[in-house]
Amino acid sequence: MERFDLIVIGGGPGGYTAAIRAAQLGLSVACVEKEPICGGTCLRVGCIPSKVLLESSERYVEAKNSFSNHGIKVGDVALDLAGLMARKETVVRNLARGIDTLLKKNHVRRYRGTGHVTAQHVVRVDGEDKVELEAPHIILATGSMPASLPNVDYDGDRIVTSTEALSFGDVPAHLVVIGAGYIGLELGMVWMRLGARVTVLEYLPRILPGTDEEMAAEALKLFQRQGMEFRLDTRVTSVKRENDQCRVYLEGGEPISCDRVLVAVGRVPCTQGLGLQELGIQTDRSGRIVVQEGFRTSVEGIYAVGDLIAGPMLAHKAQEEGVACVEGIVEGYSHVNYDAIPSVCYTHPEIAAVGKTEESLRKAGTAFTKGVFPFLANGRAHTLGETEGRVKILADAKTDRVLGVHILGPRAGDLIAEAVAAIQFGASSEDLARTCHAHPTLSEAIKEAALAVLGRAIHF
Ligand code: FAD
Ligand code: NAD
Repeated sequence: MERFDLIVIGGGPGGYTAAIRAAQLGLSVACVEKEPICGGTCLRVGCIPSKVLLESSERYVEAKNSFSNHGIKVGDVALDLAGLMARKETVVRNLARGIDTLLKKNHVRRYRGTGHVTAQHVVRVDGEDKVELEAPHIILATGSMPASLPNVDYDGDRIVTSTEALSFGDVPAHLVVIGAGYIGLELGMVWMRLGARVTVLEYLPRILPGTDEEMAAEALKLFQRQGMEFRLDTRVTSVKRENDQCRVYLEGGEPISCDRVLVAVGRVPCTQGLGLQELGIQTDRSGRIVVQEGFRTSVEGIYAVGDLIAGPMLAHKAQEEGVACVEGIVEGYSHVNYDAIPSVCYTHPEIAAVGKTEESLRKAGTAFTKGVFPFLANGRAHTLGETEGRVKILADAKTDRVLGVHILGPRAGDLIAEAVAAIQFGASSEDLARTCHAHPTLSEAIKEAALAVLGRAIHF
């Protein structure tokens, strides 16, 4: 039995971040991860590989279609899919090495194997390492895995989850994507740019549920203009493979034939085999672990963070929780401001948001003022040749405090950081409007949207 102050099960963004913060605070820490590399879903089969593919496929489309707009002539542009995939692997490998170095630098002891909590303070590791660990505190950070749909014959080849869709060996002729959420839109866009016909089937009458409705509706139009096909209000009843083809059966509609199907209908927590039932750790109806203040589960000394618990399934949310959980254990106080967690969909254009949507404010009966500024009126957007989309700021009608910021447009994912800081610091739209923004930058659109809240945008 090896003894530590803290055992973390799961080496993803929630787990490895918690382990490093705990070591910084002076705890002896063990981190148990079953995969050969740390970094979790995010690094292995999530955020990073998908963003590499989005970046490469966007450059491919630019080289084919828009370099000429800049007066640049290129010869025949051809796709080297194997080269593109190899670059993705290199990026993942390099970042994994970085995490290993950070864990070593902070003296976190890494164990390779599957962790099972066998008693309140005991974890058994099964795998390359076979060992029992003991600690007064255990953080569960085992993340999530793709949700499956009934009557879908997954085969990991033609009918797949996001994991396999990050590594197709050739470009599908016709890819059907089930689910118009983050994964469906991002990976659908990757394969569309690389040459596939892409049809997205969505159960709801809209895309990206939870996103501000107006922004999602505008994004839908832009994606359709790029050639992505959408069938909203569509219920898939089953998916079957027939030789090298797939048939997607729909309620009240003709089946669709295609050569690949990506099912992207959400993710479910990874709790199997952890020992939750035996210990009496409480879960909710969707299988997520229920936590109280300080990320404490129903069993003393056991905590849970990240995709395992309620809230958006995002890497940065998992990291914030990992840090807050450890600080709570060591310092007795911790806090995550869930109103200031940004979300970014890395399509083209990107869709980024923080805080409240118009719908949620209306539902809560909060009076708000709205300021909108289109990228069409922004100088830098013109220099980039990317004038689609807009910034929308929602501020409290009485206090002017910024309640929500929604951006559809170029580099929205980077621009949103300023809005996150504004919400975190309790800024008003007047604060944003009186802040000097460099010219010519896309960020001026945020200043102008803030001015628009006050009815005095200069450039629109
Ligand atoms: P995970 O990252 O899932 O890590 C959990 C780790 O625990 C894994 O490494 C797993 O191997 C390990 N594990 C599980 N069970 C055990 C066990 N019993 N013993 C030992 N180890 C175990 N989020 C963003 O914020 N931005 C994005 O751009 C983004 N893109 C994404 C794209 C895709 C295709 C996918 C699938 C997800 C994406 N996400 C993105 C979501 C993000 O990956 C997750 O929210 C994040 O990884 C959750 O972190 P976590 O630490 O809670 O869990
Ligand atoms: P999601 O929850 O974002 O979207 C799932 C979509 O599938 C929803 O629109 C839902 O209405 C639809 N759906 C559900 N059942 C359906 C059915 N039977 N038929 C048709 N449509 C159906 O889930 P996801 O896209 O699988 O992503 C999983 C998680 O990963 C997300 O919660 C997200 O937080 C995270 N993620 C984040 C990013 C990012 O931050 N850029 C990227 C990828 C994934």
